[in-house]
Amino acid sequence: MQEEQFSEEQLLAELKTLRQQVTELSREKQQLEMSLETITEHADVFENQLVEAHNLLESRVALRTQELAEKNLLLEQEIQDKQRIENALRENEEYYRTLIKESLIGLVLSRFDGTLIEVNPAYAQMLGYSEEEVLKLNFWGFTPKKYSSFDEGQFRKLEVTGRYGPYEKEYIHKRGYLVPVMLSGLIIDHKGERLIWTNVADITDQKKAETALRQAKESAEQAKKVAEMANRAKSTFLANMSHELRTPLNAIIGYADILKEDAEDMNYQDMIPDLDKIQTAGKHLLEIISDVLDISRIEAEKIDLNLNEFDVAELVKEVIIVIELMLENNELEVNCSLDIGKMYADATKVKQILQNLLSNAAKFTRNGKIILNAIRHADNLIFEVTDSGIGISQEQLQDIFKAFTQVDNSTTRKYGGTGLGLTISEQFCRIMGGQITVRSELGKGSTFTVQIPAVVQS
Ligand code: ADP
Repeated sequence: MQEEQFSEEQLLAELKTLRQQVTELSREKQQLEMSLETITEHADVFENQLVEAHNLLESRVALRTQELAEKNLLLEQEIQDKQRIENALRENEEYYRTLIKESLIGLVLSRFDGTLIEVNPAYAQMLGYSEEEVLKLNFWGFTPKKYSSFDEGQFRKLEVTGRYGPYEKEYIHKRGYLVPVMLSGLIIDHKGERLIWTNVADITDQKKAETALRQAKESAEQAKKVAEMANRAKSTFLANMSHELRTPLNAIIGYADILKEDAEDMNYQDMIPDLDKIQTAGKHLLEIISDVLDISRIEAEKIDLNLNEFDVAELVKEVIIVIELMLENNELEVNCSLDIGKMYADATKVKQILQNLLSNAAKFTRNGKIILNAIRHADNLIFEVTDSGIGISQEQLQDIFKAFTQVDNSTTRKYGGTGLGLTISEQFCRIMGGQITVRSELGKGSTFTVQIPAVVQS
């Protein structure tokens, strides 16, 4: 085999080529390395971006999840609220249904043409029907004709104001009789329709009570008229009788006086005490007659006020003159300041009251002291009569102003009296706008205080 022979030149050229190739390769390698570097750099950036994008996505997902969770919670709450409201509504409806059902007042929902849509048991019962039966009726059917125009008037009111009544009318019961009722109502919108809601009260009992009351009033008025007539007749009778009794009594007293003078002239001394007794008894009878007359006048309300101006000290003096005759062993102290001056009241009545109180004090005090204080307090005249006599027990105090009340019979027997003096005095005080009060202790004495409004004229 023949070995191929290369020349030096060829080898050099080969070497040169190889060198060039090496240089190229190393440049390529360099370039590749640079590219690798660039790629590595880019890969980092890319990775960072990827991480960022990933993180962003994660946070977005978390946010969205949270939003969704919140929305879900809200939704759940809304559902719960809705359920609660629905429950409350249902409960409310049940509550109102029970109220309507149990109401003693008749309740009815109707149309303007009188068709009944809903009624409660009380309404049906009032008319004598069952609820089903009544719903087949029209309310004009059980309304008496005489109320038609009145009802129409109420309907016009309903149209204008949205309400009607309350007014009274009657319904025809299933059995045919009339049931008095009281109605009132209003327009309501129910499922898009304008309806009338009416309350109907059965007023049968009330009407019965009204009739009974009217009848009672009428009979009371009748009784009052009869009583008034009887009272008038009594007053007239008493006035006539007192006149009829007084005339002969005055004659008896007068003739007893004449007889006393004759007896003295003719020296019939023995007769004088008997004649005195006739006179005293006659005078006592006169007093009783005038007391009874006063009481009957007060009862018939025929006592008039006779107001006049009078001097208080003067009036007291006149009373004392009469009282002093009754004093026997008693001491009388009168405290009446002159500067009370003049007052304005019914002097006759004031005098009679004072006389009654002082004569009682004298009657019921055997050996003691009687004090009269006359005071002026603003526009009031005040008399205070105090005695140290027999006194009145607490339980008897309650009765002494009642007519014909005499607490102590023994003293009354001794001193006379009718049991009318305090009644008359108290009534006179009342008529004059004043009052009498009393304080007393059994065995120690009594104080009667009189207050009378009397405009001061000083
Ligand atoms: P009479 O005409 O009997 O005095 P009155 O109405 O004046 O009638 O009095 C009624 C009764 O009240 C008297 O009967 C007496 O029992 C009692 N009474 C009135 N005033 C006094 C007094 N000052 N002291 C004790 N008792 C009195």
